[in-house]
Amino acid sequence: MKMATERNRCPSDTDCNGELYRKRIDYTFESNGRKIKVPDLEVWQCDQCNEIFFPAEANERIDLYERFSGRFLVRVPPELHCQLTQAAKEHHRSLNQEITFLLSQALRK
Ligand SMILES: [Zn+2]
Repeated sequence: MKMATERNRCPSDTDCNGELYRKRIDYTFESNGRKIKVPDLEVWQCDQCNEIFFPAEANERIDLYERFSGRFLVRVPPELHCQLTQAAKEHHRSLNQEITFLLSQALRK
């Protein structure tokens, strides 16, 4: 994976001399046999050789997706499970959407 250092000129080893432009891609890679997809990743692409370069923010996001799958098992009391299911129904959300919403809200405070 190449790091983008200079903003406008293509940093390719060949003397390409192309210009970089920003682009959003769905970036898929494999790590420890796991296929990981990073949606809507902002990268730079050369208008001449088409090589893609990853700015620091893109690499940070790739690292995050590699470290955290977004899936984990949580044990809660059955009463809470029931309450969450009812709340999800009331808000016309899936249980997953309801819990994601509640956790995101709780962390914003
Ligand atoms: Zn280039």
